[in-house]
Amino acid sequence: MPRFALSPRGLLACLITACLAQSVVAADAPAYISADASAQTIASNTAVLQHLPFSDRTDYESVSKGLIAPFKGQVKDASGKVIWDIQAYDFLATDPAPASVNPSLWRLAQLNAHAGLFEVSPRIYQVRGLDIANMTIIEGDDGLIIIDPLTMSETAKAALDLYYRNRPKKPVVAVIYSHTHVDHFGGVRGVIDEADVKAGKVKVFAPAGFMEHVMSENVFAGNAMSRRAQYQFGSLLFRGEKGQVDAGLGKSTPSGGTITLIPPTDLIDKELETRTIVGLDVEFQLTPGTEAPAEMNLYLPQLRALCMAENATQMMHNLLTPRGAQVRDAKAWSQYLDNSLARYGDKSDVLFAQHNWPTWGGERIRTFLADQRDMYAFINDRTLHLLNQGMTPLEVADAIKALPGALDQKWYTRGYYGSLSFNVRAVYQRYLGFYDGNPANLNPLPPVETALRTVEAMGGGAAVLEKMRAAMAKGDYRWAAQLGNQLLFAEPDNNDGRKAQAEALEQLGYQSENATWRNMYLTGATELRNGVPPHAGSSVSVDMVRAMSPEMFFDYLAIRLDSEKAVGHDLTLNWTFEDQNKDFNLTLRNGVLTHRAGLNPSADASVTLSKATLEQISLKQLDFPTALQKGLVKLQGNGKKLGELMASLDTFAPQFNIVTP
Ligand SMILES: [Zn+2]
Repeated sequence: MPRFALSPRGLLACLITACLAQSVVAADAPAYISADASAQTIASNTAVLQHLPFSDRTDYESVSKGLIAPFKGQVKDASGKVIWDIQAYDFLATDPAPASVNPSLWRLAQLNAHAGLFEVSPRIYQVRGLDIANMTIIEGDDGLIIIDPLTMSETAKAALDLYYRNRPKKPVVAVIYSHTHVDHFGGVRGVIDEADVKAGKVKVFAPAGFMEHVMSENVFAGNAMSRRAQYQFGSLLFRGEKGQVDAGLGKSTPSGGTITLIPPTDLIDKELETRTIVGLDVEFQLTPGTEAPAEMNLYLPQLRALCMAENATQMMHNLLTPRGAQVRDAKAWSQYLDNSLARYGDKSDVLFAQHNWPTWGGERIRTFLADQRDMYAFINDRTLHLLNQGMTPLEVADAIKALPGALDQKWYTRGYYGSLSFNVRAVYQRYLGFYDGNPANLNPLPPVETALRTVEAMGGGAAVLEKMRAAMAKGDYRWAAQLGNQLLFAEPDNNDGRKAQAEALEQLGYQSENATWRNMYLTGATELRNGVPPHAGSSVSVDMVRAMSPEMFFDYLAIRLDSEKAVGHDLTLNWTFEDQNKDFNLTLRNGVLTHRAGLNPSADASVTLSKATLEQISLKQLDFPTALQKGLVKLQGNGKKLGELMASLDTFAPQFNIVTP
């Protein structure tokens, strides 16, 4: 039976700090020895040169078209720490691609390294390459509309400064969040003041359901997502020929700055809705359930310009992001792309998105949208076609090696961010779930148990390592990595095994056309060679904590609860937010915490405070004893019971193991 502290000290201080913590890691990844590209990797990458239309240089023209001012520097936070460094990618300026990078990915990485301020068309400007996303700036009659203010206030401010150094300094009068992902709203305080929003001088537009989805997508599984995102974006890798070269949608995510959020003032809730902003008509096209649960495209009729948000970028996107999220709907995505094509295809001279570079010319725009539509429809329909023949996820993935017909040869359908292999498995998951229908897979042993038995069955660790090396000698790296995984989950300290597995993952990374797959392979290899790097502290986003509703706060408490510790400590607790006039009662029963609106007359204890006080405690701006002393928190009833609940809350470790048990 665990012993619980009775003191209220720290009771609330730890309530939320494990969530919404933006992952901050050491900026300087340790230099390490990595394998050279093997003969098989060189052959594989050379074959790519024959397969794809490298002589087509249209994208190189598009990516530099309209350049007004290049950006070559760094962006720093208030303390002087570098949070964005485009110079780190200067190595990409050379041709041909080095042996350790897939030439198709090298091409994309070169394109995404074009950073600066660009004129898209008269009155439409983009700052690209100062963050993973683009900031679009539209010049209205007497003010600016900003579409998507990047991830961090520091990069957003730097982007707006770059614009102001080159264009008339009109005030920002509207911000549009195209969707709920942090790279499209997190920098908002770098471009506008909340006081101006409150005074009605600045409007903030967003698709219906914006705040709910921003929070629910990021909070409940946030710790795991943050860790997995390090793999996906390669944030722990050094930048270089054997390290991180790109993240598909852009170079990478900025690291360590300030994520902000100002709630929208105007929600778009009709499928099509036109607003006039600073003299410009903006037609919003809602596209819920596509790339994000709440997302919208925009059409500007006076400017004959179509903004496709993140629904049509210069690549195949994700139906299921490797960092983890709920699976997306390829069918709906395809349908909305067709709606955009039908509605705007004949009246657009330029199409731009909030990642990568624009597409100019009606014919090219129509072909681009039709191809993007066909791509997601194919992934959906072909997967269903094959699963109805009885194929299971990996069989479907193996059966669909390329997009059909001419789609396979288009640069903007290549799997740089999403991948065909992952996306077809996502469709399977959407319709049939993770179970493949084979009862042998109903209840398999977990990874370590499987590995111990597999290694024993194969004659021990040395025998597995020998087979692994034989596979690598033939260039069969996928199988080698599977063998290495068994070996390391049985014998995590096997140094020869770790080295061999790192080499197998490196070759897979070097061959990968997909930027995020490369990042994941190489991050796994780095951690096998150097261990998991320590977490360099986390900064909680003040705005995100403020945006948490009381219900969400209690939901998150329930996730943090260690039910094994909490069993036997049943409790009912009233909770009043006096500033919001909201009462809740919490019930801890069977090691499970639930909440309900209203007060429970027979509660064991009650807590009264303001939401603002809770936020201050959560952000460590106020400690609990001081709050009690000052009367900011009132505690009545059985304080011991509350202490028991708080002692049962876990704090999640941010840097958990992935490539070893
Ligand atoms: Zn994005």
